[in-house]
Amino acid sequence: MTATALVALENVNKHFGDLHVLRDINVSVNRGEVVVVIGPSGSGKSTLCRTINRLETIDSGVISIDGQPLPAEGRGLARLRSDVGMVFQSFNLFAHKTVLENVTLGPVKVRGKKKDEARKRALELLDRVGIASQADKYPAQLSGGQQQRVAIARALAMDPKVLMFDEPTSALDPEMVQEVLDVMTSLAKEGMTMVVVTHEMGFARRAADRVIFMADGEVVEENTPDEFFTQPTSERAKDFLSKIL
Ligand code: ADP
Ligand code: MG
Repeated sequence: MTATALVALENVNKHFGDLHVLRDINVSVNRGEVVVVIGPSGSGKSTLCRTINRLETIDSGVISIDGQPLPAEGRGLARLRSDVGMVFQSFNLFAHKTVLENVTLGPVKVRGKKKDEARKRALELLDRVGIASQADKYPAQLSGGQQQRVAIARALAMDPKVLMFDEPTSALDPEMVQEVLDVMTSLAKEGMTMVVVTHEMGFARRAADRVIFMADGEVVEENTPDEFFTQPTSERAKDFLSKIL
């Protein structure tokens, strides 16, 4: 664990009843790093993301954000949580709010930003993800790819220290996958700290600094994308790659 770790999980364990879904997880993500998490369905990738944002509690171990251990509850938790942005497979936009309102709501309600300021910043972010012209529409009027780009702008509007993506392109029609990956790639290039669960191996190869391979609740391999894709060491990783590549 280095001094610059922005997210650190130490000996994290989590059960759902009898199911041991995270087994002694030790992971650290450094500032500016892009970590791609891959692995078979049911291996615990979403649970890992959700514990980092305390959408799920853990049974043992410590999760720290920027050196601060996540408390179980209270204001400290709310503050650390808002440092962790989250983009889900299913967009999770507010259906009855416009695109612009979706992006300004958090900064105004949670961060206490002035409305004008939040609006200005939201329009900049919408422009950055290529949908400023859709600001006054409602989510249902947008394509899936556009909705996911709004979700990214909404997460960025909170000025998170780290952005988590849980299969952000899995619910999209194939022709919309690239526009979302392009936004993610440019964020990565700009130095955003990112944890990305994805089956998009092209993205992993191009954008990841490190690949973490999970299976059955464990981190089985951790390597640079080059090494991981060309020389996986475990049988489970070899088997997984043979099925998807
Ligand atoms: P992945 O994202 O890698 O597909 P998940 O983290 O979603 O894996 O799930 C890991 C395991 O935990 C799976 O066996 C899943 O069925 C189980 N699981 C996930 N969420 C819950 C829950 N809320 N209650 C019970 N079991 C769950
Ligand atoms: Mg999942």
